[in-house]
Amino acid sequence: MIEIQRNFYLKGLNTFGLDVFASHYVCIRKQEDLSELLESDAFGEFKHQILGLGSNVLFINDYFEGLVIHICIPGISVVENGPERVIVEVGAGENWSDFVDKMVENGLGGIENLALIPGTVGAAPLQNIGAYGVEFKDNFVSLKAFDLQTGKTVSFGPEECEFGYRNSIFKTSHPNRFIILSVRLKLSRKHQLKTDYGDIKKHLSEEGNTHPGISDISRIIKKIRQSKLPDPSKIGNAGSFFKNPILHPLVFEGLRREFPDIVSYPDENGFFKVSAAWLIEQAGWKGKRIGNVGMHEKQALVLVNHGGATGGELHQFAMNVQYSVKQKFGILLEPEVNILS
Ligand SMILES: Cc1cc2nc3c(=O)[nH]c(=O)nc-3n(C[C@H](O)[C@H](O)[C@H](O)COP(=O)(O)OP(=O)(O)OC[C@H]3O[C@@H](n4cnc5c(N)ncnc54)[C@H](O)[C@@H]3O)c2cc1C
Repeated sequence: MIEIQRNFYLKGLNTFGLDVFASHYVCIRKQEDLSELLESDAFGEFKHQILGLGSNVLFINDYFEGLVIHICIPGISVVENGPERVIVEVGAGENWSDFVDKMVENGLGGIENLALIPGTVGAAPLQNIGAYGVEFKDNFVSLKAFDLQTGKTVSFGPEECEFGYRNSIFKTSHPNRFIILSVRLKLSRKHQLKTDYGDIKKHLSEEGNTHPGISDISRIIKKIRQSKLPDPSKIGNAGSFFKNPILHPLVFEGLRREFPDIVSYPDENGFFKVSAAWLIEQAGWKGKRIGNVGMHEKQALVLVNHGGATGGELHQFAMNVQYSVKQKFGILLEPEVNILS
């Protein structure tokens, strides 16, 4: 039986740490709960919002007039256990970071670079989470989702998900339509480590580690992340607030003539991914604080709630940053965080 609760306090379900209430809330623990939910009065009457752990959302109002569908489906099982490859099925409500740790402890490689990313497994496909040169899609096999429009369960393979940079069809074309129930990932017993990105190699050489394993990589990545990113349990934030803009080569060349120090990386399609953190820093926002809101002093891309800010204040601050980057560089930064009203 599902229980629809009223006036539910969401402070524990948004990493900005906002004092937000939802008029209606339900926790979904198994697939069958969803058929029951579709027949409920609350589902028919109110708009709905799917939620995992709330580490990539910004509620801009103190009161969300609608139904929060919190996905709590547990379970990890092995569906294929080969000598080299293992396929694992994971419930959408499992904690991503704990799941990565479990795979690393079991000597299964592929997702160790995605260690310590907050959130649930079910939200990971939504924006194709990525870090340190690895994206969720690199190990993805398939997922099972519940279609809230038809009440049917559907399977999605890699192509149907249309994964892109911090993107998928679940974020763009069909937000809030499909509830991801479980995900299948392929992991490797003979994994090729990815150490090119960031300071991984520097840390390995400082340790004198010439034969690292997957546990070394996840440990080093956790250390780097903890030194750079604010811990949401201490300072409210949702990680990178904006995406890195991707520019056409002609646009990029024009910009580079004007700003020769611009930080960028060529992407696989011949376009240029520009560092949004650099743009924000150049526009004077790194470490800047107004009232209870600011951009973090160590990572200009992270919008922070220093304590007591409202969602409206955070949103306004982010829009001011966006405006001044547009004025200075002519680039409109796109939020990576899902803005909920
Ligand atoms: C400190 C910090 C560091 C971060 N670092 C990174 C990083 O390195 N790389 C990165 O990619 N992200 C990063 N993030 C963002 C965040 O961790 C991810 O986006 C994560 O996947 C969000 O998971 P969640 O369960 O909290 O999702 P939520 O914030 O609850 O939801 C995010 C979106 O997913 C949808 N959603 C959630 N669950 C489901 C489901 N089961 N089915 C369908 N839709 C669903 C929601 O409707 C919402 O639109 C970081 C965030 C923080 C706070």
